[in-house]
Amino acid sequence: MSEAPASRRVRVAVEAPQHSGLTGPLDYLGPQDLTPGTLVHVTLGRRDVMGLVWDDLPDGVDLPEDERLPESELRPVGEALDALPPLSDRWRRLVEFAASYYQRSVGELALAVLPPQLRDLDAKQLQARLKKLDKADAAAAAQAATTPDTPATPADRPALTAQQQAALDAVLELAAREAPPPALLWGLTGSGKTEIYLRAAEAALERGQQVLVLVPEINLTPQLEARFAERFAGHAIVSLHSGLTPARRLRHWLAAHLGRAQLVLGTRLAVFASMPRLGLIVVDEEHDPSYKQQDGARYSARDLAVYRGHLEKVPVLLGSATPSLESWQHALGGRYRRIDLTERIGGGALPRVRLFDMNRLERKKGVTTTLSVPLLDALRKRLDRGEQSLVFLNRRGYAPVLHCDQCNWKSDCPHCSAHQVFHKEDRTLRCHHCGVSARVPRACPSCGNPDIAPLGRGTERLEEQLAQALPGARVARIDADTTKLKGSLESQLAAVHEGDVDILVGTQMVAKGHDFRRITLVAAVNPDGALFSSDFRAPERLFSLLMQAGGRAGRDAAQAAASEMWVQTWYPEHALYQSLQKHDYEAFASSQLHERMSANLPPFAHLALVRAEGRSVEAARDFLTAAQEAAQALPLSLGLLLYPPVPMAVARVADSERFQMLIEAGSRAQLQRFLRAWLPELHALKRRQKGLTRWAVDVDPLAI
Ligand code: ADP
Ligand code: ZN
Ligand code: ZN
Repeated sequence: MSEAPASRRVRVAVEAPQHSGLTGPLDYLGPQDLTPGTLVHVTLGRRDVMGLVWDDLPDGVDLPEDERLPESELRPVGEALDALPPLSDRWRRLVEFAASYYQRSVGELALAVLPPQLRDLDAKQLQARLKKLDKADAAAAAQAATTPDTPATPADRPALTAQQQAALDAVLELAAREAPPPALLWGLTGSGKTEIYLRAAEAALERGQQVLVLVPEINLTPQLEARFAERFAGHAIVSLHSGLTPARRLRHWLAAHLGRAQLVLGTRLAVFASMPRLGLIVVDEEHDPSYKQQDGARYSARDLAVYRGHLEKVPVLLGSATPSLESWQHALGGRYRRIDLTERIGGGALPRVRLFDMNRLERKKGVTTTLSVPLLDALRKRLDRGEQSLVFLNRRGYAPVLHCDQCNWKSDCPHCSAHQVFHKEDRTLRCHHCGVSARVPRACPSCGNPDIAPLGRGTERLEEQLAQALPGARVARIDADTTKLKGSLESQLAAVHEGDVDILVGTQMVAKGHDFRRITLVAAVNPDGALFSSDFRAPERLFSLLMQAGGRAGRDAAQAAASEMWVQTWYPEHALYQSLQKHDYEAFASSQLHERMSANLPPFAHLALVRAEGRSVEAARDFLTAAQEAAQALPLSLGLLLYPPVPMAVARVADSERFQMLIEAGSRAQLQRFLRAWLPELHALKRRQKGLTRWAVDVDPLAI
């Protein structure tokens, strides 16, 4: 009989949120042979929680002996889930980096990125899950063995164009390097980027490696999954995103972690998928804002993918028609290897861009709600030819506000500094910020005037206007309101593909990714707002959205010549539209980078944003003012720009007053050093500030 192994001090990362002030892994007492990366049950306070055995700190970095709890006072670790192979060293380094960079605790991040169901299992339940997985895999293998024509090599590959071949060669050359730099695959919509992902993935699979493919939105995973599944029949492909049932998400995660899934396809959270034989990371539409997590640890999955590639020494392929200016600048500076695809497959041209000058219309009240006559004519022409059109407006609902012109009453939200949006279909006024919803009043609540009128226009009204202006046309709408039910987006998209729709009205939801072959006209009816936004990234987002929307048209080479994109604008001379008209991303990027450089904005400066929410304006503002004073007292703030606290663009949401404060630094390292010194002070301030409900720091914020 062997003796029980001697106990020792072990580090365990537990989910202690940032505001608790516990940042590092905690000390427990555990067996000598407990490997870092093992899941264990531990007691935290009075709760039994899941923890992850972490690494011992190197000598000299650890707390001094007298600040550490003596071993006699440590609590023992509970049951270990050691049927699961430990999370790897590289995985833990990724989590450590992300936690430190985005200023969260290691435990919080580590546990938050594991599948939720994993945290609730005991060792026995986990074993049962693993057994079930083994059985399912065995059954699948038996099935594959009896199916005679499972192709050993990928099926139906088109021959690459010369340009694609050169691009693939470049990717493969990088993959062969000891420490490959990230590659930026810059290519128009329809230029064959996905084909490059598929080929690069194939090469990695042949080397026996796993491939991680990130897409910005859940909606886009089924499409890409289908394409990968078709190409890699007989290979194990799993998806990872928040839309999966908890049981499924766990199963998929386990398949990746055990090295059985060869391809993992997912949204931003998949960047943390544990993959023991990772050989390639693809980030599709790398510029997409959805890669940034908007609560908890506000990480950028794109940036973490690049870091992970560096850590694991595997190539990272960032693909986009309109790269983020950060990535573009890295490519210009040589840190990323740029690979270009300049031609559309099959020679399809990009749609001709027509900037329709709204100033040409007679000025009258409500003119912004007009669909111009020439646009209607263009739509009619498509109708007559049996072609489809896409009309795009980034605002849902019928009208953004109801208004009484007798007393000037507006449908303001009682809980937010915003209007309630008029939804005609279900006769409600809904606030898009706090979600509160009310019946539409029959008369003005303030003066009794029965004539309250909608001002402005959303997709619902656009749909109605188009149906009225073009009798007989089959108009359909796709936005967040029409796609709430599971499966409804798929069925609506299918109707478009089947040709059951003549004119598709939608928000940015339809501008992204979907491959509509029969659309020959794309129109943006009111995109000007972004030109004058206080957010310096608004033009970048607008440009990429319009390029992407335009890319929906003319994907069929036969129709490409007749394809058009219409932009109704009051500012046709604006540089953004001028670049758009020439499909000239490079010119646009260069002018934006120039502006960013002279204004000292990213990528030439590094930002962090602290946001505070309180029950009163004072609570939120005073907290940030005190935070600023604390910052100024820190020597590390020297050379940083600390902007004064200001109300957020929508200052009040759900009765919460919101303020923010921007910090600008010349280098990442400088910003990181400062934040590390400053944030503990904010935790202390938070405890003292009455009425402050929460605060958070956002490193590299996307929306300002
Ligand atoms: P992107 O990802 O840049 O939008 P895709 O890879 O989806 O472009 O390619 C656009 C279309 O062209 C797809 O239908 C794809 O199957 C097809 N395609 C891509 N490469 C080739 C090729 N070399 N030969 C023929 N068709 C191709
Ligand atoms: Zn009134
Ligand atoms: Zn509201």
